[in-house]
Amino acid sequence: ADPLLDIQGLSLDFASPAGPVHALRDIDVTVPRGRIVGVVGESGCGKSTLASTIIRLLAANASIVSGHILFEGEDLATASERRMRQLRGSRMSMIFQDPMTALNPVRSIGDQMIEIQHRMGGSKADKRRRARDMLATVGIPDPDNRLTAYPHQFSGGMRQRICIAMALLVEPSLILADEPTTALDATLEVQIVNLLKRLQADTGCSILFVSHHLGTVTELCDDVVVMYAGEVVEAGDVREIFHNPSHPYTQALLRCDPGRIREPTRQLPTIPGEIPDLSDLPPGCIFQNRCPRAHARCAREAPGRHRVSEGHTASCHLLAETEEVPA
Ligand code: SF4
Ligand code: MG
Repeated sequence: ADPLLDIQGLSLDFASPAGPVHALRDIDVTVPRGRIVGVVGESGCGKSTLASTIIRLLAANASIVSGHILFEGEDLATASERRMRQLRGSRMSMIFQDPMTALNPVRSIGDQMIEIQHRMGGSKADKRRRARDMLATVGIPDPDNRLTAYPHQFSGGMRQRICIAMALLVEPSLILADEPTTALDATLEVQIVNLLKRLQADTGCSILFVSHHLGTVTELCDDVVVMYAGEVVEAGDVREIFHNPSHPYTQALLRCDPGRIREPTRQLPTIPGEIPDLSDLPPGCIFQNRCPRAHARCAREAPGRHRVSEGHTASCHLLAETEEVPA
């Protein structure tokens, strides 16, 4: 079957006074129907930009340079703003790191949950009932009486549950979640991850889950895409990547973050060095200045994408013996 979302060769620049910043380069990502795909990488790797590009909530200085974003067969890379507004209220929705960016502080939760259903059928009473039921589904206690409450009357964890309820109310086939648990403590994070898992199973929607935390992705996702400095460096089934990481960057990430939901007291090592300047990219492999296994070829030539095993690919010269996947 066709995947729900099929991103092919996507590149995106941000204009800047110093020249274009090549924030996404030749990205290929597939989200099958009914799967949860994690996008993981350090801050600045382009993972949030990727999510914002799919739903086309981009800064004015961003421009898609090339590629396709095929969603249910339609190319969002070239869709009109009017069409994108329709899709955002029906086929796709987004959950942000900070629930307050998605909620209006001066309107009641109930009003906002009715408003978000404006593209759906039914009377206002129907919409209120749906809002109430959805609050119950995401675990807001006493939902009948909470519809009239304002965002500030909820805790951070409860606000994120409300945002998830709003995202689900439009019955999307794709939810884009940009670090929805990063601002929460570890206990709340586990609760939200379990909630997303359950809701995905109940609704059959697909989720693209952006996180800098490999542990959370391992917990929640079926597939994982590892991004570094605006490129996909490795992708595949989450268990396969976890047990057989094949790109030196993924290996380093795993050493820093051995896979459990975070333990706030534990200090983990970080990967030494910094990502290269995305407005002045060096030739060769994007990871060469930080890679413990870099060799002469890495400075000359960018590695192709290689098939490590079925459905598992990585871009590194160390995999030169394996089959190269055509671009
Ligand atoms: Fe490291 Fe070279 Fe592989 Fe890049 S291509 S990740 S520099 S070994
Ligand atoms: Mg981010």
